[in-house]
Amino acid sequence: MVLTASTEQLRAEYPLCGLLVCASCDLPLSPLASADGERCYQSPCGCRLRPVDASTVERVTYEALARRGLVRRQDIPRSGWATLFVRAVAAVRVGAVPDELMFAWQT
Ligand SMILES: [Zn+2]
Repeated sequence: MVLTASTEQLRAEYPLCGLLVCASCDLPLSPLASADGERCYQSPCGCRLRPVDASTVERVTYEALARRGLVRRQDIPRSGWATLFVRAVAAVRVGAVPDELMFAWQT
């Protein structure tokens, strides 16, 4: 996939952009800033009623990478997560709750 500048900017702010998909129907979730400024991912399908909290799914993903030994140094700042995630993860499927994630790893 060729990333445009705007896509890279979006991915810097939403590191799971393009990777996060609905576990029920496989549709990708879209980045969304809620009315009160919280970062979220929203599914276009009707599988869940509320947007997924971005910080939660990103932290759970980061911790899953760390458990697999894919985080080579401690405390990679959030600004580096987009690169980290796209190298390690093919897709993240999110279930009914934000911390119920299934990972498809890059091979
Ligand atoms: Zn769905």
